[in-house]
Amino acid sequence: MSYIIHMKPTFYHRTVNGPFEDPVVYLRLLREKRALLFDAGDIGRLSAGEIHKITDVFVTHTHIDHFTGFDRILRVILRRERPLRVYGPEGITKCVEGKLRGYTWNLIEEYPVSLAVYEVSDSSVTVTEFSARSGFQRLKRGITKNSETILNEPLFSVKAACLRHDIAVLGFCIEESVHINIDKAVLMERGLPVGPWLSDFKAAIRKGGKGFSAVIEGRKYSMNELGDIVRITEGQKVSYVMDISPSAENIERVTELVKGSHTLYIEAYFLDEDRDRAFQRNHLTARMAGEIAILAGVREVIPLHMSPKYKAFPEKIIEEVMSAFKG
Ligand SMILES: [Zn+2]
Ligand SMILES: [Zn+2]
Repeated sequence: MSYIIHMKPTFYHRTVNGPFEDPVVYLRLLREKRALLFDAGDIGRLSAGEIHKITDVFVTHTHIDHFTGFDRILRVILRRERPLRVYGPEGITKCVEGKLRGYTWNLIEEYPVSLAVYEVSDSSVTVTEFSARSGFQRLKRGITKNSETILNEPLFSVKAACLRHDIAVLGFCIEESVHINIDKAVLMERGLPVGPWLSDFKAAIRKGGKGFSAVIEGRKYSMNELGDIVRITEGQKVSYVMDISPSAENIERVTELVKGSHTLYIEAYFLDEDRDRAFQRNHLTARMAGEIAILAGVREVIPLHMSPKYKAFPEKIIEEVMSAFKG
């Protein structure tokens, strides 16, 4: 007998706005009641419930089209227990602090929310905390060496690359550790119940599986005995790159960062016929975006953040990306 196994992805990601509006990607983590946000420009289309799930915001840089939504996030999560982490390039701490100082906070001592800002430079990551209890004054400060991986959890990790757009900019890549699917049909066939032991089992696989055993309905099972109920596949990989100068160094760094991504969200600000303008304004052209995607061996490329001057013919930009991407 054969069964169809439905591989449910862990990351559900989508763009929040159209290609001529602020670039924002919302990424939901399945079964985690949690979401990540890539850039925080206009997020008016996200519901309060969606914003409430955001635990981590990855900001490429603080030009207003990438950061104006920060206030809305703060407004929505003000009474939340779970802290918010914000990652950004050099200067991010000052920018967050500037936003916080733009309001009056005399009635929030009871609110539990706190922010941790991770300022990422080539050599270090500086963490600064702001908590509602102390009126969002700067609190702790810790510095660690930048090891490229800025967030490391059992389920996934996030890497950041330091890039240039005249100013410092970050590019991001999120990668699931391994993708684990439980084959419910085999589970049923063997008479094993669904329960919390499955989460422990998956967590143990992510850690390498050594020494794991589970007691299910009074009987002890080893990792090997449970091998047939699980399908392990390669984890998902999603990258996000906006607003970078078309320099050889940037392109090399981005290609390395996004290598083998399932999906690459990338700016396609200018058409290649306006290449000179792209160099002046520190943006990529559509063709460059497609070339990076093919060079890095990504499976899907989604162009975003197009200059309003092409508003009448977005298909021209998409065609240019795709023709470079398909070689
Ligand atoms: Zn921009
Ligand atoms: Zn910019």
